[in-house]
Amino acid sequence: MSEPRSVLVTGGNRGIGRAIAEAFLALGDQVAVTSRSGGGPDGALHLTCDVTDAAAVEQAFVDAEAAHGPVEVLVANAGITADTLILRMSEDDWSSVIETNLTGTFRLTKRAAKGMLRLRRGRIILISSVVGLTGQAGQVNYAASKSGLVGIARSLTRELGSRSITANVVAPGFIETDMTAVLSDEQKAGIMGQVPLQRYGSVDEVASAVTWLASPGGSYVSGAVIPVDGG
Ligand code: NDP
Repeated sequence: MSEPRSVLVTGGNRGIGRAIAEAFLALGDQVAVTSRSGGGPDGALHLTCDVTDAAAVEQAFVDAEAAHGPVEVLVANAGITADTLILRMSEDDWSSVIETNLTGTFRLTKRAAKGMLRLRRGRIILISSVVGLTGQAGQVNYAASKSGLVGIARSLTRELGSRSITANVVAPGFIETDMTAVLSDEQKAGIMGQVPLQRYGSVDEVASAVTWLASPGGSYVSGAVIPVDGG
């Protein structure tokens, strides 16, 4: 088996992030998970870190590196929604989502790049959403934050590619987690009607795309957007 890698997954205490962390643990990697409320899968290092706080992001990397060495795989997964139609969308609805989903990812990738440039290798994987590609009524803030991740990954690809660092986006469709549990039955039926595979996705189906991008098999893929959305 290959050497265990130092992996950092944000938002790794539940939902998609937790499944991603578990998948890396199953491969034998050393995994640090972060969240605001703490916790995570057994076998991972659990760190408290709000991605809207630059000092907390720095501290999380320091702690992960002290335990596992320089972060070689970053999965920027932490994200929130604050859905409402544009005329009702407040400044706070806009800025809280942008600050967490987009600016948080900027902070994480900037800090991760520092160590990866020294290592001369690395995998950066950003968890976006199909909504970032298609748009969605009631999600102007969320869609803007998620499409921005494509710009980050493609720019990092050009900036860091010569050092064997890849940056890719995974764009899940409807996955059953706490985030989607709050949707009404009517909203869920509307989404399902547009999914050719006619079912919701599982957190494990997202995790397998992420671990593939981080695997030797994904080594020549960078700047890509991989949909995991049932078609
Ligand atoms: P959940 O709501 O289940 O989990 C969100 C995770 O992010 C939690 O671990 C949460 O932990 C963490 N988090 C939220 N805000 C912050 C913050 N400011 N700092 C640090 N951690 C934070 O969501 P999902 O698992 O469903 O979603 C994970 C990602 O996948 C998100 O980026 C989401 O946008 C994306 N996605 C989800 C889809 C779905 O259908 N579920 C579809 C497409 C994309 P805590 O609250 O403890 O901080």
